[in-house]
Amino acid sequence: MLFNIRQETLPREDLEALQLRRLQDLCARVYANVPFYRKRFEESGITPADIKSLDNLKLLPFTEKQDLRNYYPFGLFAVPRDNIVRLHASSGTTGKAVVVGYTQRDLETWAEVAARSLAAAGVNHTDTVHVAYGYGLFTGGLGAHGGAEHLGATVVPASGGSTRRQAYLLRDFGATALCCTPSYALHLWEAGQEAGIDFRDLPLRTGVFGAEPWTEEMRQDIEQKMGINAMNIYGLSEVMGPGVAMECLDAKCGMHLWEDHFLPEIIDPVTGEVLPAGETGELVITTLTKEGIPLIRYRTRDITSLDYTPCRCGRTHVRLTRIKGRSDDMLIIRGVNVFPQQIESILMESEGLTPNYQLVVDRVHNLDTLEIQVEVDEALFADEIRKLQSLEGRIQKTIKEFLGVSTKVRLMEPHSLERSEGKAKRIIDKRLEK
Ligand code: ADP
Ligand code: ZN
Repeated sequence: MLFNIRQETLPREDLEALQLRRLQDLCARVYANVPFYRKRFEESGITPADIKSLDNLKLLPFTEKQDLRNYYPFGLFAVPRDNIVRLHASSGTTGKAVVVGYTQRDLETWAEVAARSLAAAGVNHTDTVHVAYGYGLFTGGLGAHGGAEHLGATVVPASGGSTRRQAYLLRDFGATALCCTPSYALHLWEAGQEAGIDFRDLPLRTGVFGAEPWTEEMRQDIEQKMGINAMNIYGLSEVMGPGVAMECLDAKCGMHLWEDHFLPEIIDPVTGEVLPAGETGELVITTLTKEGIPLIRYRTRDITSLDYTPCRCGRTHVRLTRIKGRSDDMLIIRGVNVFPQQIESILMESEGLTPNYQLVVDRVHNLDTLEIQVEVDEALFADEIRKLQSLEGRIQKTIKEFLGVSTKVRLMEPHSLERSEGKAKRIIDKRLEK
C-alpha cells in the first residue's frame, strides 16, 4: 500500500519540476545562511541564480563527510539554534562522529518518508512494529519509531541489547514487523532458537533491515530461517536517517529513493564525473527540503546504481540497486579490489556455512593477506575433520576464481565469532596497527 499516493506516483515531469523549484530554494537558503556554502559558491564562481535547470546541479561543489567533521558540531546548520529540536550523530563506523540537527519540520518529513518506507515493505496501521535498532544518537531507532507511529502502527521500542529477552518479547507481543540490522536479525533468531522459540511459528511476517550492507543470499537465508519477507531499507544520518530509500514488496528489486526530498546522482568516485543512468558508482545526494542541516551534493561513499525503469508497484521514484558496499570498506588485497559483500555471496552459497563471518586483513613479509573466518552450522561441525578441510579448500578456490584474490578460509566453531547489536563488524585490518 502507498502511504502518500499523490507524491509517490507523481509523473516524472511533475517530479522534476518540483525538484527544480526545491533545489533553487535550497541554494538560496544555504547561500544566505551558511558561510561555508556561500564561500564554496563563490569559489566556483556561481550564485543561486545560476541554477536554472536540474542539469545545473553539476555546477555545484560536492560536500564531504570531512566538511561535516571540520565544522563539528554545529557549523553547517542553516537555521538559528532555537529552531533545532533534535540532535543526532552518525554512528562513527569510519571515524569521528558527525552531528546533525533537525527542525520540527525536518522531523515531520522524516516521519513521512519513514512511514512511506514501512508501507512500501507491506506494513500498515494494523501492524505491531518491534524496533530493535539502537535508540539514542544513532538515527536507526528513533527514525524507524517515528515512521511506525506516523503510520499508526503499534510500536515496541525495544532498542538493541538483551537479545534473549527481545526474542521473548517478539513472541509475547506478537510483533508482525521487525526493524533492525540484518546481522542483528540473525542474532535474534539464534537467541530464539536457544530459547526454544521458532520464529516461523510467530505472527512476524516482515523484516525492515538496513544500516549495513547485506546480500541477496543473506536475504534468502533470513527469509527461510524466520519465515518472513526481509526488506531492504537505506538511509544515513547526514541525509536524514533510515527511510531515504526503501524496497517495495511488489517488486522486491531496488529501493525507491524518495525523490521529492532527496535528489540523487551517481558519480565516478575517482574523477567526480557524473555517470549516465544505470552505471555503478558513488551515490551523491542533495537534500531538497531539509532545514536544519541541508546538504548539497553530499558524497555518501556508498557504491550503487540508479534504475529509472518503471516499477510494477506504480511508484515513480527512482530505485537504488542494492548497495555493493561503501568505498571505505573496499579492500585492496595485492592490487585486487574486493568488497566484503562479494565474499559474503560466495560463502552463503555453501551448504553448512552461517552468515557469521569476519575478514582479517594483514601484511606478512610485505604481502597483503586475507583470512576469512566463517562459522559453520552445528550439523557440519559434527562432521569429520576431513570434510571440513576439503570445504575450506573449495571455498578458497571459488573465491580465487570469481574475485581473483588468494585467501585463507578458516572454518570456525558455531557461536565463536562476536555478535554485534547494531552494525556487524566484518573487517579487522591489522595493517592499520602496524
Ligand atoms: P556511519 O557512517 O557512522 O555508519 P550511519 O549510522 O548514518 O553512519 O550509517 C549510514 C550508512 O550505513 C550508509 O552510508 C551506508 O553505508 C550504510 N547503510 C545504510 N543502509 C544500508 C543498506 N540498506 N545497505 C547497505 N548499506 C547501508
Ligand atoms: Zn516499486
